[in-house]
Amino acid sequence: MADFAPDSITFASGHYIGGTVVAEGERIAVARPSDLVDYAELPVASVEVVDRAVTNATQAVAESGWATRPPRDRARAMRRWADLIEERAEELGRLEALGSTRPIAQAVTGDVASVAEGIRFFSEWADKLGGDVAATRSDQLGMIVSEPYGVVGAITPWNFPLSMASWKVGPALAAGNAIVLKPSELTPFSTVRLAELAVAAGIPAGIFNVVQGTGAVTGDALSRHASIAKLSFTGSTRTGVAVMKAAAESGIKPVTLELGGKSPQLVFADADLEKAASCIAGSLLANAGQACVAGSRLIVQRPVMAELVDRLKAKLSTVTPGPTWKAATGFAPIISEIQARRIDRILAESHRQGAECLLGGGRIEGHNGAFYQPTLLAGVTAETAAVREEVFGPVLTIQAFDGEAEGFALADHPEYGLAAGVYTADLGRALRAMRALKAGTVWINRYSRTLDFILPTGGYKSSGIGKDLGRQAVEANLRHKTVLIDIGG
Ligand code: NDP
Repeated sequence: MADFAPDSITFASGHYIGGTVVAEGERIAVARPSDLVDYAELPVASVEVVDRAVTNATQAVAESGWATRPPRDRARAMRRWADLIEERAEELGRLEALGSTRPIAQAVTGDVASVAEGIRFFSEWADKLGGDVAATRSDQLGMIVSEPYGVVGAITPWNFPLSMASWKVGPALAAGNAIVLKPSELTPFSTVRLAELAVAAGIPAGIFNVVQGTGAVTGDALSRHASIAKLSFTGSTRTGVAVMKAAAESGIKPVTLELGGKSPQLVFADADLEKAASCIAGSLLANAGQACVAGSRLIVQRPVMAELVDRLKAKLSTVTPGPTWKAATGFAPIISEIQARRIDRILAESHRQGAECLLGGGRIEGHNGAFYQPTLLAGVTAETAAVREEVFGPVLTIQAFDGEAEGFALADHPEYGLAAGVYTADLGRALRAMRALKAGTVWINRYSRTLDFILPTGGYKSSGIGKDLGRQAVEANLRHKTVLIDIGG
């Protein structure tokens, strides 16, 4: 992987509607997280532009036969799209790295590779979920027929723009829907390139549309559009509430919500501490903690706390921050100065509440972008701001426990339940933890996803409703019609 010059990258800076780039709307500046330089302007899609995109998508579904063609044709087009994404991995990765927090080396070999494989995974479901024949009286035939919704809407966050788009578009298209997607205004451009490649691969124009703009204007218009039959959102719990409300007020649309987390890492004294430290540090450093599943609360059995903290300090002390266009950069910038100030605020409040920094605690100086030191915070309680709130930065709080029940109780967060990590050599304890933890994903003696897209992801409590990935994500893009026929006899 080579460095690249940020000014050498070209891209379409508009909406993508019906296979055409449309640059209509009031313009806002977009900054590069690596150096906070404004590098492009983004048109904000008004209610009218969103309406045009949805109308176009509705026509495209009707006229292109995307929903009615043999499902394996859809699968074939999606596989060609995945191949094209792989062929253009360097180009897509550079665009992703330019505008987001993803360092180029990770964007190409991690994000883009995973997007291609994810699209392939979803393509394979095109002809696998057909419905059911029900057990009815013998003079009747009862069927449960699955159908696509028509046009679905999606709203994605800034932390993994391409991956998050693929998690929404893949299942929607495999099920036979068209989609209108709004990326974050902070990271808007790579999603349009992804949509252009879909059309280049033979997916009909108008099946994958992108509307650009702010959440308050464009996101709200999309959530409220009467012809959007289903919505999928990833972002903060606060915005998830607004999206769910808008969906309820505009025709009772089903919503899939992948929201915030405050995930615990529960380490028992019998655990392989070196492995646990690697997993915990890896989770904290990944995208500098700007991940919904970041394992940001360490809950460790008292006898091994000091040793684990020493190992973590060693692993977290050497990071390689830098611009995302440098191949040597391994540690991501914070998405914006606003987000960095949010981390400052949570840390300051935590200190006032008695928290003490064992490592880090402030900005990494000497860069134009906002970079944050990996931070270990002890002396915290369940009330401390950094334990309560989703920080979205490389901040790990540390709490000690004695008995198993106390560990499980500390791991339970009053609001969030996205993921949890458990580290122990005792199989029975691991399985008890799996049952006790109220989280959508429980990782045992590891802490990260793999390319096993068959495993769904989604939260308990205020961390969300429904699942991304897995068979469940495709099912969420289908609705079911009950048919009962009198057949006589
Ligand atoms: P938001 O939840 O505000 O943004 C997520 C997406 O929703 C963006 O595309 C945003 O658009 C859009 N949006 C915002 N307001 C509305 C609205 N009223 N109706 C419809 N769509 C809307 O997250 P932020 O970017 O503000 O990040 C804030 C915090 O959210 C983070 O600090 C973190 O705690 C959490 N977060 C969680 C993520 C996760 O993966 N679970 C991902 C990102 C953030 P736009 O960006 O253009 O305003």
